[in-house]
Order: sequence, then C-alpha cells, then structure tokens
Amino acid sequence: MKIDLHAHLEMCENSEKVISNAKSVLIVAAGVDLNSNKKVLEFSENFENVKCSFGLYPIEALELSGKELQKELDFIEKNKNKIIAIGEVGIDLKESDNLEKQRNNFLKIIELAKKIDKPLIVHSRKSEKEILEILEQEKVKRVVMHCFSGNFKLVKRIVENGWSFSIPTCVKRSEHFQKIILEVPIENLFCETDSPFLHPDGEKNNEPKNVIESYKMISKIKKLSLKEVEKKIEENFERLFF
Ligand SMILES: [Zn+2]
Repeated sequence: MKIDLHAHLEMCENSEKVISNAKSVLIVAAGVDLNSNKKVLEFSENFENVKCSFGLYPIEALELSGKELQKELDFIEKNKNKIIAIGEVGIDLKESDNLEKQRNNFLKIIELAKKIDKPLIVHSRKSEKEILEILEQEKVKRVVMHCFSGNFKLVKRIVENGWSFSIPTCVKRSEHFQKIILEVPIENLFCETDSPFLHPDGEKNNEPKNVIESYKMISKIKKLSLKEVEKKIEENFERLFF
C-alpha cells in the first residue's frame, strides 16, 4: 500500500472525492489548528484509508494566548489514542520573524509529544537550523521533516539523528528533493502530497492519489522497483509510527 504521509484533506475542494480517488493509498490527514484537527479526526473515523495527525501551524499558534494554546494541546492529549503523530508543527521564519514565541510554542508541543509518545511531523521553512538545534537539544527521537528545504549539511545531520524526510510530489520538478532522495537512505524516506499544495506539475488542487509521483522518483533514483519502494516505505511507517 502506498502512503501519503501528509495531506490537508479539509483544505481540498472536494475532500470526499479526493479520498475516494485514492482508495489504494493510506492517507495521513494533518491538522493545523483546533478546527482542522476536529475535521481530520472525522475523516479518519469515516474512511478506512485515512489516519490522522493533529497539529498546530506555527503562524496560527502565534495568535493564541497561553490559555488558548493550552486548549489546543489538551485536545491533542485527550485524543492521543486516535492519532498517529503530532503535526503539522514547527517554526516558520518566512511568514514571521518572531522566533522566540515560535520556539516557546514548539517546545510545549515537543513536551506533549514526549508525554503521549508520538512522532513529530515538522514544518521548517527558513528555520531549518533553529529547528534542528531544538530537536537535538530536546533529544527528540521520532521526527519526520516535511518538505525540507534546508542545505545538505543539515540533511546529513538529520540522517545521523535517525530522523526521516517526507518527499513531496513536486519532486517531479525539484532538483533539491531529487538530491535528498539520492543522499538519504531509503530507510529514512516517506512520500507526501501536502494536498492541495505542491502539485507535481505546478497546477492547483494536488490530491493524495498523486503520491505515486514521489514513489516513482524514489524508484528511479534508488534503482528499485515500485513494489520494492512501496514495501520499504511501509516498513518505515510501521517502525516509526506504531
Ligand atoms: Zn502541510
């Protein structure tokens, strides 16, 4: 079974249709705030091929008071048995330069991930180095770097820490992600669409069925059959998430 490790189903134009277009794909629906966490939970309860991950997008979290943030964290903790990971979470220094508050929020999320023993799916736009320092300092063990755009010194450090990457479908036209596939052992790779974003051909409305594009690129670069790639990534999934 193919796995789309990161999709925003609630942001897709016709969520039910994109789920049924991808019946043979296991989709991990990622929330970004309290409302979307509730929606992804519903998808996972209504569709057999959907699992969910609760998140708190760093920019949205900046707007929250301490009390509101705690409410979001409590909701995650309360539903810990229904989720397979915490994400999308992280730090974004492209949209905001408030590193201090983002770092504090991220630290609270890391603390929760340790407490409920879940892997993190991490967003690190223009904050790759800062994120790595925090994750290393906090000795976080289970991490997937989603859509990682940092340099290859950092890529190497991520592998040395035993963490993983999820390769978005825009790898079809991105040398950067192709190079990540080349440099990183297959044991540290996953595939994702980030639907409805990052369409493989630069169009609108990406959807989970397109995750095949990431699998194809891994198959081509690693010189493995599609079946072998599928099997390897399924093993990675079992090892990291369960
Ligand atoms: Zn995302």
